[in-house]
Amino acid sequence: MSELGPSPLTAGDPQLSVAQAREAIRQVLRPITDIEPVALTHGLGRVLAADLVSPIDVPAHDNSAMDGYAFDGAALAGDGPLQLQSVGTVYAGAPFAGRVLPRQCLRIMTGAVMPAGCDTVVPQELCLADGAWVTIAAGVVRAGENRRRRGEDLARGGVALVAGRVLRPADLGLAASLGFETLTVRRRLRVALFSTGNELRAPGQSLEPGCIYDSNRYSLSAALQRLGVEVIDLGLVRDDPAALRATFERAVAEADAVLTSGGVSVGEADYTRQLLAEMGDVAFWKVAMRPGRPFAFGPLRGPGGSAWLFALPGNPVAALVTFYAFAREALLALAGARVEPLVTLSARCSTPIRKRPGRTEFQRGIVERAADGGWQVRPTGSQGAGILRSLVEANALVVLGHEQSSVAAGDAVEVWLFDALN
Ligand code: AMP
Ligand code: MG
Repeated sequence: MSELGPSPLTAGDPQLSVAQAREAIRQVLRPITDIEPVALTHGLGRVLAADLVSPIDVPAHDNSAMDGYAFDGAALAGDGPLQLQSVGTVYAGAPFAGRVLPRQCLRIMTGAVMPAGCDTVVPQELCLADGAWVTIAAGVVRAGENRRRRGEDLARGGVALVAGRVLRPADLGLAASLGFETLTVRRRLRVALFSTGNELRAPGQSLEPGCIYDSNRYSLSAALQRLGVEVIDLGLVRDDPAALRATFERAVAEADAVLTSGGVSVGEADYTRQLLAEMGDVAFWKVAMRPGRPFAFGPLRGPGGSAWLFALPGNPVAALVTFYAFAREALLALAGARVEPLVTLSARCSTPIRKRPGRTEFQRGIVERAADGGWQVRPTGSQGAGILRSLVEANALVVLGHEQSSVAAGDAVEVWLFDALN
């Protein structure tokens, strides 16, 4: 279970901007502390628990950066071509035992240890080899060139990867290059997920009149999987006090965070609020945003443990947008990750958008290459909060900030690419 910090969450239903809501969440979250070892081959996406310190110099020896001839660069002092006698060949992984004397050179392969007496490599394409003699024209190489120095990538004792790093392919390669077989990572964050609503049916069931299929559990479960957390799917829960209490109690016993959609939003049945008030310190916010105005967040406690609740609105588009706006970053922080700023795009909007200042709007958009090579974005046609197809057609969210007013065609707007949202 995560340790719950003090809650600055206010009572009532305060109106908050998106930035204020994000900040209020960020302030109270404390990352889980449990750690475990993981094999490099299973490390992708895991959160590094402590700085990874290099036990060796990288590279471990001075070595050649080129296929060519190694020699003592002091011989380059004179002008005119230099003629050297080649006394052998040295390959990567098999250091040369002898010493190379002045006026001698050694054929050397990329990565081979620099032989004693040599500090310079002339690439083979820049010299002329004739039997045992190698001629280097004046000016093609300077003393010390084409040699990689011991420890130049990373010195022994240096920090190779910082704690909180969400491990990427190159990180795992670097860890392997330092000889690590396993890494110490935070255990996976456990997130319980369920949908609420009497009208919901699971895909595969028959639909009675007035019922709809539960789609949020599938889109949100997938979004969670992309974050690398462990998803505990608690299914569909009816709008019923006993069922809700049992599910929340199980969720807080098993998970660090609970993600729900529908039912707990502002204006829903009072028993939900009463239940959440009994179990914790949940704030019901009216966030100045569209879609996704209702959003509840706070700590919950049950007989078996405690967890953070993220209660998303039920509308399918609003559920995903609020997930990206609030839950994604918060869950990464809980998982112990150093949350990097989202890489966003500035694109020219191909159509005007009416907007008044005082709320943040997330429109679904299609980002394309413009004729001039820059990026342009075109909002998808239908922007209703329940229209999931608008998300499917889109490849990005057009984010119109709190203070922003209407956008004219050709204006630059901020865009969050779905592929950047993990
Ligand atoms: P609520 O937030 O419960 O008032 O729901 C708002 C709208 O979203 C209603 O039309 C619900 O039927 C719909 N909705 C709620 N939960 C889901 C879900 N899991 N999948 C699809 N639609 C949902
Ligand atoms: Mg509902």
